[in-house]
Amino acid sequence: MTMPRVNLPLTPGDWLGMLGGGQLGRMFCMAAQSLGFRVCVLDPAEDSPAGSVADRHLRADYLDEAALAELAGLCSAVSTEFENVPARALEFLARSCVVSPSAAAVATVQDRIREKAFIRDAGIPVAPYAPIVQVSDLDAADPGLFPGILKVARLGYDGKGQAGVASLDEAREAFRDFGEVPCVLEKRLSLELEVSVVVARGVDGQTLAYPVSENVHVAGILATSTVPARVSQDVAARATAATIGLARALDYVGVLCTEFFVLEGGQLVANEIAPRPHNSGHYTIDACVTSQFEQQVRAMAGLPLGATRQHQQAVMLNLLGDCWIAADGQPPWAELLAHPEAKLHLYGKREARAGRKMGHVTVVAASLTHAVHVAGLIAQRVGAAR
Ligand code: ADP
Ligand code: MG
Repeated sequence: MTMPRVNLPLTPGDWLGMLGGGQLGRMFCMAAQSLGFRVCVLDPAEDSPAGSVADRHLRADYLDEAALAELAGLCSAVSTEFENVPARALEFLARSCVVSPSAAAVATVQDRIREKAFIRDAGIPVAPYAPIVQVSDLDAADPGLFPGILKVARLGYDGKGQAGVASLDEAREAFRDFGEVPCVLEKRLSLELEVSVVVARGVDGQTLAYPVSENVHVAGILATSTVPARVSQDVAARATAATIGLARALDYVGVLCTEFFVLEGGQLVANEIAPRPHNSGHYTIDACVTSQFEQQVRAMAGLPLGATRQHQQAVMLNLLGDCWIAADGQPPWAELLAHPEAKLHLYGKREARAGRKMGHVTVVAASLTHAVHVAGLIAQRVGAAR
């Protein structure tokens, strides 16, 4: 493949492209603009969290060649904010722009079947699983995988596209309900904790990790991240080394996150890789020297990475639409802003729906115990899951 001719590092005033208009794209735009870049967002929605803060918004489908060509003409470097962007769009852009992460890296992790095989082949344990592409794969699957979870291989997020299945019969039914699209059947593990690690890797291969985040999911959606995670140094070191190893194996440029399950006895199992900044890394905006979004900008622009050091203990609470609905459609603003150590980030979404990520709040403090305490009070006041 011929490499595009782009002179790195980029300089102030240069345009960065972002595929996707969600909150990750929005926080990326803000970080890029702080460094002096301009951002063009490609997203089909008229009104999107990133489109509304971008210097330019191309409102088109991700595979619209005219829009992709316009984006490529304007921007020297392009990134994406969600893994379900068609790899073909990234390949198209890669002819004339620096695209990070690469289409190949995104293609590996956007399909659970490929992703799990890739992680396992990198020597990192995954939950026992079987790829399911037809009903007979279910019949042939190890009965030890039950009770399990059937997950669609592509396009799942926030627990969507997953079904708990206690038996082969239930798995057959769930597979039919998903329209017999490729899936993985995964054994349901008993989790002590969930953690994640965000790393950034520059074009020169320099790789820096952020502290390990301890995550609580409620109904499949991240509810809280507590950082640093309350795990042993050994568990933290192994999760970090595994994530750095995965980023290297993908020849990755940009920000990547790996989610892990911690099992009894400190055994670590990698769950999935996100080829982008991650919800569990939002705390970095307020608690680290360099946020995960600034780091993504630096990596794609060929700039040196910033320090990942955490200067405040942190608890991040996701704010879902449920909190708005409970407050007659209004953001629970006053309650959040009443706490001087709570840093509020709203995503500019007009419509609050149950389960929709509307914003997050990060409680920062000198002690983690205090941050946990205040976050607990806030969650209770605004009805946030925790
Ligand atoms: P998503 O892409 O929606 O984030 P995940 O595979 O990360 O999907 O699953 C969402 C959550 O469901 C996990 O964070 C975890 O809490 C729970 N979960 C997923 N797989 C398993 C499993 N094999 N055993 C136990 N819990 C699981
Ligand atoms: Mg997940």
